[in-house]
Amino acid sequence: MFKKTDHDPVCHDNPKARAQSLAGSKRVHANYTLKLPRGSACMYENGQNDHNMRLVNATILDLDQPAVRHGDVRIENGVITSVEDANAMCFRGSGEEQADCFRMLLMPGLTVGHTHLYSSLAAGMPPPARAPGNFTEILDMVWWKLDRALDDESIACGALAGAAQAALCGATTIVDHHASPNAISGSLDLIRDALAEIGLRGVLCYEVTDRNGAVQAREGIAENERFLSRVVSSADGRHGYFSGMAGAHAAFTLGDKSLRAVGELASAFGTGVHIHCAEDPADEKLCRKLHGAGLVERLDRFGILRPGTMLAHCTHLTEGEIQRVQDAGCWIIHNPRSNMNNSVGYANVARMRPELTALGTDGIDNNMFAESKASYFKIRDAGTGLGMSDALGQLAGSSRMASQRLGVKLGRIGPGAAADLVLLDYEPATPLHTGNVAGHWFFGLDARHVHSVMVGGRWIVRNRQLVSETARARLAEAPRVAARLWERFRAL
Ligand SMILES: [Zn+2]
Repeated sequence: MFKKTDHDPVCHDNPKARAQSLAGSKRVHANYTLKLPRGSACMYENGQNDHNMRLVNATILDLDQPAVRHGDVRIENGVITSVEDANAMCFRGSGEEQADCFRMLLMPGLTVGHTHLYSSLAAGMPPPARAPGNFTEILDMVWWKLDRALDDESIACGALAGAAQAALCGATTIVDHHASPNAISGSLDLIRDALAEIGLRGVLCYEVTDRNGAVQAREGIAENERFLSRVVSSADGRHGYFSGMAGAHAAFTLGDKSLRAVGELASAFGTGVHIHCAEDPADEKLCRKLHGAGLVERLDRFGILRPGTMLAHCTHLTEGEIQRVQDAGCWIIHNPRSNMNNSVGYANVARMRPELTALGTDGIDNNMFAESKASYFKIRDAGTGLGMSDALGQLAGSSRMASQRLGVKLGRIGPGAAADLVLLDYEPATPLHTGNVAGHWFFGLDARHVHSVMVGGRWIVRNRQLVSETARARLAEAPRVAARLWERFRAL
């Protein structure tokens, strides 16, 4: 249905000729005309993106404060500079490319608020010798065994596979939480390079833990510090494509010394801490047993509860603890599918302040359409009193959270926002309008409607295919990399 036409993009200074051309595009139905850079999707070689474009005739879908309008979007240097009524935009002539988005939805790129890209090779992985009996056994028998089996090759391949999943499902930013105890140093660069190859933005960190000994804990802190220093002093950080966090696994696997070091690192770089929090009752229980203090109390004592900190899960925080961490400026990232899969319980989402609540996949498929639907159906199933707008708000929260960290405006279509955009091939029977966005989101729209994806004004997915030929070639190697990973996994 959507094909590159055999004529050049519409280029008219004459408004009448332009109007005729747009009318012509309507006759051929979604005449999708794009010029794309050849080869890599990398967005800012030479330090900046000077690719200018306008997307015309689009049905624009905003998710943060849901709204639908029809209009044209102008993009300059990777940023949206104006949004005007359809056909009202004056074309600036040479150097500006145009895409006719007739009968397509244009929405902001999505953000995966918490994931573990290394687990993207895990679908179909070898099962444990017996079924884990509880949460800590799931960690011990599956995920802590997998992360010990990771080497540089599988880290890079897993990150590329997860980033591809995300991009093809309409995500443009990934907040990752990485662990590879036998390949710590440089691991965040491998993930950064995989995301850059596909063209995504990333907020990265290494999960510091004491569970593999003091040496590896120090290496984890050093890796976070190295990456934070790198993004501060590079184009990655200046252009808002990458940022770092002070990462930690979960308080119950960090002794006081390591937890203090993570808090101090966050303070030194003016960033937050990305850590699992109260995913299972074991976090609180083991904190008391092993470290002599409650979970939230320990986080507070060591400077973890600070603005910008990302607390994944918070499944078992009390109402008072939720208020305490959010009063400190911490984000709570809800991961409903993971929580159901691990049988750890359901977070008290009704007591979370929406302005500091986000949504993540926790390593499951990086599909934010699926995650937001799971969140909504769980909201209904549990009788929380919340509704569709609340689940949609969690999704928008992920982009607001990443915006804080990256210093660019994400999740919006308006002047000054990053040109991180998704074109959806969605033509419902019941017309989409501002009053029924949530109904279409939860009962109609899906990742299968994602047609093309842009980050910083560059297309990274076009016609349901990754633009980067290098990424596609490397992904063809994934089965061989996964086979070697599972050999090491079985040997542990
Ligand atoms: Zn997680």
